Amino acid sequence: MEPLRFKLDSQDGEARAGIITTRRGQIETPVFMPVGTAGTVKGIRFEALESDLDAKIILGNTYHLWLRPGIDVIKSAGGLHRFIGWNRPLLTDSGGFQVFSLGALRKISEEGTEFRSHVDGSLRFLSPEVSMEVQASLGSDIVMVFDECAPGEASHEETERSLNLTARWAQRSKIAFERLQTGGADTGRLEVEGLSGTQALFGIIQGAGHLDLRQSSLEQTVNIGFDGYAIGGLSVGEEKSLMFEVVDEIAPRMPKDCPRYLMGVGTPEDLVEAVARGVDMFDCVLPTRNGRTGQAFTSTGKLNIKNAQWTNDSRPLDESCRCSVCRRHSRAYLRHLYMSGEMLASILLTHHNLAFFLDTMRGVRQSIRSGDFPKFRREFTGRLDANGE
Ligand SMILES: [Zn+2]
Repeated sequence: MEPLRFKLDSQDGEARAGIITTRRGQIETPVFMPVGTAGTVKGIRFEALESDLDAKIILGNTYHLWLRPGIDVIKSAGGLHRFIGWNRPLLTDSGGFQVFSLGALRKISEEGTEFRSHVDGSLRFLSPEVSMEVQASLGSDIVMVFDECAPGEASHEETERSLNLTARWAQRSKIAFERLQTGGADTGRLEVEGLSGTQALFGIIQGAGHLDLRQSSLEQTVNIGFDGYAIGGLSVGEEKSLMFEVVDEIAPRMPKDCPRYLMGVGTPEDLVEAVARGVDMFDCVLPTRNGRTGQAFTSTGKLNIKNAQWTNDSRPLDESCRCSVCRRHSRAYLRHLYMSGEMLASILLTHHNLAFFLDTMRGVRQSIRSGDFPKFRREFTGRLDANGE
């Protein structure tokens, strides 16, 4: 039995619509996964994520939860789902990317990565084995292998060294993962008819902007064998055209019968463009982070709520959005809240932004199913260009 199933419903060009069945429920794809870094999707309650936005899956960050509150606290609560009060699917990253983004504070060896905790300055060590152990204690439904993320501008030689290390770490991740599953370390284990009840493990394709290395990483990762495959190491400061070159080249060559996940991407237009190249899953901090800094994503482009032009504007953030914020509040009111430093400004903007991302993906799925994706893509992009800031 498998930990998850992926069923492809429809295909329109390279764009795919399908359903991932996990031990904690079904996820229609293409899907956007809100990021819940420290056990919370910042600025929004779980009730709203569930009932209003109907998010089917959210992310947790291994690095952050491992350092604080620590796995003992989460284990004693009975796993991350119970600790945070979320019973739908959860995906956890491996911690590799957070350690990578610490830059000079880390030291990489064959064994793993040594770094200083941003919480208390203590020296910590993260390896494939430690990452798998932490993710088993968290009990997430989808686990990511521990990888090394080479900088976007890394040379061919440096990138090759890095992705070979990533392949060895992927193999070690899989061995440790299987040992932990058999040993009962997974706190989220849940028997569901037709599924194994264990966690699922996704491999990560690296290779920065070097297409030949991306291809080699894809082959090495598929040879090890995972439940799903991710493209990592993009959206780390490289040119957008390079990102799409990589996705163009790699996504259609990823196994057809497994979910394809583009990590850390991106804006609404990035999501639509990556779907057109065959990607099924996305996560990004943009809707929540930008919500906190006064920026709204709308169907006609980005809107900065700080701008004086909204002072007396009685229109909603987005006239074609049906979210509870757009049904109730005006730009003028949201601007007033933001300018007054009211916390409700962040909450309402975050809510709308997530609604916009999730609605966009709903539209994407419908259009793929009805064979209208090219038209959806054209109209979506056309509207954004019409009035974007
Ligand atoms: Zn809205």
